[in-house]
Amino acid sequence: MKIIIIGAGVSGLTTAINSKTKNNEILVLEKNSIPGKKILVTGNGRCNFLNDDFSKEHFHSILENNIGSIITESNKDRVLNFTKSLGVEIKIKNGYYYPFTNKSSTIRDALYEEALNKKVEFKFDYRVNDIKKDNDKFIINNDLSCDILIVSSGSKSYKVTGTDGDSYELLSKLGLSITETYPSLVQVLGEGKFLKELDGVRTDAIVSIYDEDKLIKEEPGELQLTDYGVSGICVFNLSRYVHILNRPIIRINFMPYTNEPNKYFDNLLNGKIYEVLKRIINEKIASVVLKLANVNEDKLKNDLTKEEKESILDLLTNFKINVTGTKSFDNSQVTMGGIDVNEIDINTFETKKISNLFLTGELLDVDGDCGGYNISFAILSGLIVSDRIKELC
Ligand SMILES: Cc1cc2nc3c(=O)[nH]c(=O)nc-3n(C[C@H](O)[C@H](O)[C@H](O)COP(=O)(O)OP(=O)(O)OC[C@H]3O[C@@H](n4cnc5c(N)ncnc54)[C@H](O)[C@@H]3O)c2cc1C
Repeated sequence: MKIIIIGAGVSGLTTAINSKTKNNEILVLEKNSIPGKKILVTGNGRCNFLNDDFSKEHFHSILENNIGSIITESNKDRVLNFTKSLGVEIKIKNGYYYPFTNKSSTIRDALYEEALNKKVEFKFDYRVNDIKKDNDKFIINNDLSCDILIVSSGSKSYKVTGTDGDSYELLSKLGLSITETYPSLVQVLGEGKFLKELDGVRTDAIVSIYDEDKLIKEEPGELQLTDYGVSGICVFNLSRYVHILNRPIIRINFMPYTNEPNKYFDNLLNGKIYEVLKRIINEKIASVVLKLANVNEDKLKNDLTKEEKESILDLLTNFKINVTGTKSFDNSQVTMGGIDVNEIDINTFETKKISNLFLTGELLDVDGDCGGYNISFAILSGLIVSDRIKELC
C-alpha cells in the first residue's frame, strides 16, 4: 500500500512513525525545506506538548461535535508514552510538559530521526496544490499517486512556518466542509487613550471577557498592557471569544490578591493616594486609575469622598477595555475553525465522505487552550489514524 502524508508537522510526523509497517510505503510531502518548522517556535522555543489537566473544557470547536469523547486520561497517557518512546526525557512544570532539554528542537529532531529510522520517505520543497480522486487512487499534483492519503497540513496561523491555509481549499474541492476560520491564541485589540500610557506594563491580574454585561470566561495570569490592547497567556485563552461575541469587553481585576478589595483598601496606610496605590499596583496603572477617577494624586487617602473611593476601587477591580478585534492570523498561535469534525469518524479520523482519506491536527475545527493542548491533540490524532492504517496494511 502506498501512503502519502501532506505536511511534516507534529501530526504528520507522528502519523508517519506509527503507521509504518513492512506492508506499506510512506511518503511525506512538505512545502518547507525542513520538517517541523512550527514545532521549533512552540512554547517560546521549549515546546509545551501536553498538560496534566487533560480535560474537555480545554478543547474548543466552532461547530458542535464529538471530539470530547477522545479526550480521556488513557489518551493523555498515549500522548505521553509516545513522546517517551522517542527517547525524549520529560520535565513537568506546574502541570505543563516540556522536553527536559527545554528545547523544541529536541522533539522535532526526535520525530524526524525516528521517521527516518522507520524508512519513511520525505520530499521537501514540495507544495501540494492539487488533489484528485481517480477510482481508488489519490493523484497529487498530477505527479504522485497513493492508496491512502493523510492530510496533516495544519491551519493558516503563523504562515512563516509554512501554514497559509492552502489545503482548506484543496479539501473543499474534494467536497469537505470548512467552517469560518479566525485567529486564536492571539493578542486582543482595544480602544482607549489610556492604553498608550499603560504600554509596556506587565502585571498579574484576573482578566475576563464579557459580552456586554454577561461574563463569558475568566482567566488569571500575567497580563501585558500595550498601546494596541492586551496580551499574555491569559488574554490568548480569551481571544477566541472576541470573534463570536456581539459586544466583547475585557475587564481586568488588578487586585487578584484579595477577595475583599473594599476592606483591603480601608486597611491601607493613609498618605497621598498615588503613593498609597503605587505600593499595591504598578505605578502606571495607579496614575491612569487616578486620572480616570478624576482624583488628584496628592489627595490623602483618608480624605477621599465615598464616590471617589468607589470609583477608584471600580477601576482597580473592574477596569474596562472595549474590544475592537484581535491581531491577525500571522500573529496567532492557532486557527479557530477548520474542517468540520462531524465529517470525520472520530474513532479513526477517516473522512466519512471519502474512504482512505484521513485528516489530522490543527487542520480540523479544534482549537485548544494555551498549555500544550494543540500539540497533544495533533499527536493524539496521528496516533488514532495510525491504529486504523495498521489495520488496513
Ligand atoms: C508561536 C506558536 C507557539 C505555539 N506554542 C504551542 C505550545 O507550546 N503548545 C502547543 O500545544 N501548541 C503550540 N502551538 C500550536 C501548535 O504548534 C500547532 O497546533 C501544531 O503544531 C499543529 O500541528 P499540525 O501537525 O496539525 O500542523 P503543523 O505543525 O502546522 O504542520 C503542518 C505542515 O504542513 C505543511 N504544509 C501545509 N500546506 C502544505 C501543502 N499544501 N503542501 C505541502 N506541505 C504543506 C506546513 O509547511 C507544515 O510544516 C504554537 C503555535 C505557534 C505559532
